Amino acid sequence: VNEQVLEADLTYVDGRLRPGIQVAVRAGMIEAVGPLGLRATRRLRDAALVPGCVSAHSHAFQRGLRGHAREIAGQAGNFWSWRDRMYALAEELDRDGVYTLSRLAFRELRAAGVTTVGEFHYLRHASSERDYGLDGAVLDAARDARIRIVLLPAYYRTGGIAQPLTGAQLRFATADPDEYWQSWERLAAGADGSLARLGAAVHSVRAASAEEVATMRSEAARRGLVCHMHVEEQPREVEDCRAAYGRTPMQLILENHYDGERFTAVHATQTPAAELTQLAASGGGVCVCPTTEAHLGDGIPDAAIAAPGDWLSLGTDANARISMLDEMRWLEYGQRLGQRSRDVFGGPERTWAERVLDIGTAGGAAALGLPAGRIRAGAYADLVALDLSHPTLSGAADPLGAWLTGGDERAILGTAVAGEWEGLPAD
Ligand SMILES: [Zn+2]
Repeated sequence: VNEQVLEADLTYVDGRLRPGIQVAVRAGMIEAVGPLGLRATRRLRDAALVPGCVSAHSHAFQRGLRGHAREIAGQAGNFWSWRDRMYALAEELDRDGVYTLSRLAFRELRAAGVTTVGEFHYLRHASSERDYGLDGAVLDAARDARIRIVLLPAYYRTGGIAQPLTGAQLRFATADPDEYWQSWERLAAGADGSLARLGAAVHSVRAASAEEVATMRSEAARRGLVCHMHVEEQPREVEDCRAAYGRTPMQLILENHYDGERFTAVHATQTPAAELTQLAASGGGVCVCPTTEAHLGDGIPDAAIAAPGDWLSLGTDANARISMLDEMRWLEYGQRLGQRSRDVFGGPERTWAERVLDIGTAGGAAALGLPAGRIRAGAYADLVALDLSHPTLSGAADPLGAWLTGGDERAILGTAVAGEWEGLPAD
C-alpha cells in the first residue's frame, strides 16, 4: 500500500477527465501523474479516478438532529426554532455521545466520497463549566472513521451581540482570546499531524465582539492558520449587527485584511454582490452549504457567487443529508432556479460539472489550507474511484455530467485517504 501505480480508464487531471493517465502514490502522497509508462499495480477498469471531496464546513454532532428536529404541527418553524432543538441536543450530549455521533457522521461522509472534513467545532464542554471535556472526542472519532480532518475550534464568548451566554451556549464558551489559544495548543498537541490538523474559527458576530473578531483573525493570520466564521446566514444577524455597529457582518470583515490571511465566510447567504466580489478580491473565500441552507430556509446566495476563481468551497454543515454530490448539484441548481437559466457555473472552457467538482474538492482544500483536492504531484493521495459501468453512468458521453446530474453514491467504487483504499476489492 505504501507504493502504488493507479491506472483508471479516465482520470480527472487539470480540470478534465482524461484517458491514459497513471497516478504514482508513495507514502500517502501523489508522487507523479501522467502517461508514466509504468506497470500499473492497480488497474481500475471501467472506472474514473477523481479527487476526494472536501466538506469544508461540518458540525458532526448535529447528525443527531436528523429525524429529531421535527417542527410542531401547526407552528411555522424557522432557523431559530431549529436552533433551540440543536441547543437541547448540545446540552444532553456527553463525551461518548459526541464521539458516537461524530464517528457516524464521519463514516457517512467517507462513504459519500468525502476524504477531508473541516469540522467547525463549537460544542466543547461536557458541562456548563469551561472544562473543554469534549475537545478530544471529535479528533478521536475522525481517526477511528479514517477520514482526514481539519479541526476548527470556534471562539464563542457572547450569546448574541453584547448578550451573556445562557443555557446550552455555556457549553460553547470561551472566556477570552488567551484562553482560546491555550485550548488550541492543547488540541494541537493531541492531533496526529498526518491526518489531523488545526485551523481557527470565530463562531459569528453573534458570539464575539467586532474587536474580538479582529484580534482572532490577525492572530490566526500570524500563525499561518485558516480562519472560518459564519457570516450572514440569516437576515436577523445582519439587522442586529447593523443596529450594534452601524455596519453588516461582511462590512466588518471587509474593513480589515491581515497579511497572509486565509479567511472563509461560511454561508454569506444575505451578502450583496459587491461585497462578495470585494471579499474574493481580497483573497477571502465563501463556503456555501446548499442542502443545509435549504433545510433551514436560509435562502440562496447572490448570483455573484458564480464568479470564476478559486474562492468557493462547499460544506455539509448540519449533516441532515450527507452527500457532497447533492451539495455540488444544489450549488448549481439553486442558482438555476434563482436566475432561470442553465449552466450557471459553466463557461466557455469548462462545463458546470467540472467547475462544481473543483469547488467540492480543490476549493475545499484551499479553504482548509491543505495540499489536497487535485490529482497532481505533491498532493495527498485522497481519491475517489467511480464505477463507469454503473447503470446511472454507463454509456454517458460525459460521465462527470451524468454523475452530477443523475448519479449518486452507488457509483462510488471506493475511496482512498493517504493512499489507503476502502471499498475496492483487494488486488
Ligand atoms: Zn455551521
